[in-house]
Amino acid sequence: MKFTDLNPKREIGAHSLLVELGEFHLLVDGGMSPKDVGLASLPDYTRIPSDSIDLILLTHCHLDHIGSLPCVHRSQPSARVLMTPASGEILPVMLQNSYTVMLRQRDEKNVEEYPLFSRPEVDAVLGDFFPMHFGRTREFVKNGDRLKITFFPSGHVMGAASILLEHGGKKYFFTGDILFRRQHTLGGAQIPSMKVDTLIMETTRGLAEHPQNFLYEEELARLLASVIRTIKGGGSCLLPVFALGRMQEVITLIYEGRKRGILPGGFPIYCSGLGLAVVDVFEKIMRNRKKYGVDYTAQDPIVPPVRQDLRHRLAPSDEWGFRKRILTALNVRPLPRNRIKAGVDIRRPSLFIVSSGMLVENTPAYQVASSLLSFPHNLIAFTGYCDPDTPGGRLLALGPGDSFAFDALEFATTIRARVEHYDASGHADREDLLHMAHEMGPSSVVLSHGDGGARSWFENALQLALPTAKIINPEPQETYEI
Ligand SMILES: [Zn+2]
Ligand SMILES: [Zn+2]
Repeated sequence: MKFTDLNPKREIGAHSLLVELGEFHLLVDGGMSPKDVGLASLPDYTRIPSDSIDLILLTHCHLDHIGSLPCVHRSQPSARVLMTPASGEILPVMLQNSYTVMLRQRDEKNVEEYPLFSRPEVDAVLGDFFPMHFGRTREFVKNGDRLKITFFPSGHVMGAASILLEHGGKKYFFTGDILFRRQHTLGGAQIPSMKVDTLIMETTRGLAEHPQNFLYEEELARLLASVIRTIKGGGSCLLPVFALGRMQEVITLIYEGRKRGILPGGFPIYCSGLGLAVVDVFEKIMRNRKKYGVDYTAQDPIVPPVRQDLRHRLAPSDEWGFRKRILTALNVRPLPRNRIKAGVDIRRPSLFIVSSGMLVENTPAYQVASSLLSFPHNLIAFTGYCDPDTPGGRLLALGPGDSFAFDALEFATTIRARVEHYDASGHADREDLLHMAHEMGPSSVVLSHGDGGARSWFENALQLALPTAKIINPEPQETYEI
């Protein structure tokens, strides 16, 4: 296999992997960096000759995996686009929203090259959609060469897949973004126990250490308690979230609090438009779970080592899901963006569950934060990964009394609101990934989707766990023969 990481930076962002296997030229994901603007947010597609890709494999629909797909697809007319049926529903919602955001940013930020793709180009991607049901192997033949492909549930978000390639008697496994633990809205990863030759793995949480007694459910309970305290104290809460996955998970938490009678009613709850559009798609998928195959369970799945929260991972058959009626029960409303002003407090205690999760500039969460941050009765609580170079990452690195600048709004203020971080990540713990690597016994491991420090941690840990394996921490844009 020839392997090239097309992400120009060694970090989470414009995720795209070029893979050459015999006669086959494949692309795994076509992402976009959320913190960069314009052409700088794209993977390096310049090295891909036009009409050379046979298959584009999509792991899931976060923008760091699909945000630039129409850009690369337009020069690859023969490529079929493989993804799960659920991803096939979510993808147009995410890309059409991205198109609208780029149109707005062209004016606001003066980015001439925006939008990077058109609406018909999103439709064209769907025209080449080849659905991959979990656990169902498909064989592709090119010039007599054969390639088998199987998608497995990777947890993380609805429709997300890990991908197995079988070619020339060898197995190559791509984790994609993966989470073994069950969430309220989604089951955990279902990866069958198997030996592979090469493992290409995400490394997002290489630097995230859990205390021994960490429990996901307790972390969520702490978050809920903080929200309740804030609302009762007359303040407002901002929970910055990714519109796909995390938002629905957090709304479920709020709903549980309301149902158990510990979260008072009588205050408005606002969500961003994209998150609400995603809910409509979830509803469609949940009504037809069988058709979309979202309940697939592996016969002999890889299960991470026993820890206290194992019970949350071991129960794929447990009830999970997200239904639109939760939004009705909570009377969730779309965010009134024009009523929210930097430095002007929200008069009535409110709860904002809006994107982006990393407080990227000009997003609804960024705007709400500029309103809440100056007042001590308010709360801003992050629940997932924040890149240190994003406004969210910068805010988390500061403390009370420090000054924080909302550059895009030309507004600076003193941090007086409570700023908290809860570990409710949608990515596997590093120990779980090490366990997976150990179970699969690969002769080579390729690291991807992580910051430099996170990859270094995995490089060392994997070398100890798999002493005979070759651990590759690839240079961006360099081709490796594996
Ligand atoms: Zn993701
Ligand atoms: Zn990702």
